[in-house]
Amino acid sequence: MSPEGAPQMQDTIAARPENLISGATGDWEVVVGLEVHAQVASCSKLFSGAATEFGAAPNSQVSLVDAAMPGMLPVVNHECIAQAVRTGLGLKAQINRTSVFARKNYFYPDLPQGYQISQFDQPIVGEGEVILDLADGGTATIGIERLHLEQDAGKSLHDQHPDYSFVDLNRSGVALMEIVSKPDIRSAEQARAYVTKLRAILRAIGTCDGNMDEGSMRADVNVSVRHPGAPYGTRCEIKNVNSIRFIGEAIRAEAQRQIDVLEDGGTIQQQTRLFDPDTGETRAMRSKEEAHDYRYFPCPDLLPITFSQAFVDELAAALPELPDDRKARLISECKLSRYDAEVLVADKETADYFEVVAKGRDPKLAVNWVMGELSAAFNRMDIGIADSPVSAEHLGELIDLVSDGTLSNRLAKDVFEVMLKDGRSPAAIVEEQGLKQVSDSGAIESIIDDIIAGNPKQVAQVKAKPKAIGWFVGQVMQKTGGKANPAVVNEILAKKLDLGEG
Ligand code: MN
Repeated sequence: MSPEGAPQMQDTIAARPENLISGATGDWEVVVGLEVHAQVASCSKLFSGAATEFGAAPNSQVSLVDAAMPGMLPVVNHECIAQAVRTGLGLKAQINRTSVFARKNYFYPDLPQGYQISQFDQPIVGEGEVILDLADGGTATIGIERLHLEQDAGKSLHDQHPDYSFVDLNRSGVALMEIVSKPDIRSAEQARAYVTKLRAILRAIGTCDGNMDEGSMRADVNVSVRHPGAPYGTRCEIKNVNSIRFIGEAIRAEAQRQIDVLEDGGTIQQQTRLFDPDTGETRAMRSKEEAHDYRYFPCPDLLPITFSQAFVDELAAALPELPDDRKARLISECKLSRYDAEVLVADKETADYFEVVAKGRDPKLAVNWVMGELSAAFNRMDIGIADSPVSAEHLGELIDLVSDGTLSNRLAKDVFEVMLKDGRSPAAIVEEQGLKQVSDSGAIESIIDDIIAGNPKQVAQVKAKPKAIGWFVGQVMQKTGGKANPAVVNEILAKKLDLGEG
């Protein structure tokens, strides 16, 4: 939860007709702001040296600081500060060279300190933006309000014992970046596009692994509805939504619930709600605490965080290419379609893979293989690019074998299937299986001569109906086990059958 700013007085985003939901009292517009908690990619926690690795045995990664033993003092992990600044740069955001850690006080069994160390009125990163690529080819700019660093809490375990609840503090003290958007999002689709782009940016710069099913990214979704042009309505916050699909479903369900309440003459209570993926509905969790309930104050154990402009400049200079820049480069350098470029850059590993395949080759062939055969194979095998049995180098070599005429497209697909199974180079597979395409015109000619001599009826037919040449091509392919180069076959056939006429 972020500190609540004053409600925005100005709203410059015009309602787009495709985003409106029609109701009995007219059209409704949904207004969404997202607070995304992204786990900082770092070896150790925000204020202790304990490890952060996912999936460790309960309470095996807990220092005395994380367990809030009396007298323990937090020590800032500099890498987490650098990661937050890198992320801020990736969001084209204001970097605040002075920021302050504050205590956010509340009681919960998974929070041994009795407060979370977070940032309140002086976050490390201020306003920035994320540009969405919309399905219609347009873009939408979503404002970033702020990014602050804070500690994660532990995890209560209620299913270990009939009478007791346990707590696992492995996550306690892990660094989170809370990235708060402005209420600029106007549909479930835009929210999904926003989280997708945000995740691509974080992954590209390496500040969060973006694995939502491991909890590395989760979103609190603020939803309200209004008639277009009206002031913002009362919002509800849906906590801890942990997949991009569920974010979309939660927004649709919550917007419709609010519309139904309002159209029945009711009012919206400001609430914290939960989305239940099984029912597809949101339900009330608790009424929303006000920000002052947390009694924020600067953490007396920590000095303000300050750093020089030189530190920021150094991180900026070393920042990897951002997804939007990469997309623009792939479109201009590789002449990819906007769609292809977007799909590739949405996942850094896929884009990296593509660039290795495309290097020194026709990018269009490379993109067809990566987004066609390769991606279909991954879907079939239920794996990601990181587990690809076919290396980018080998896929590139396969494309070369098609380009130089060694393999037909048909044979290349067969070789590719073998590559998927055993990860060998295409050259080795071609060699072993004798799959080389026959382009030697002498060999093909003598096969064709035999076919023409043995089938006078078909020869007469093809003269009346040139389309019947397909039958001859089929015969040649059968006799060569599909290995004859189709271009050479067609050329010789046309010549021979014409000659036969003379
Ligand atoms: Mn938070």
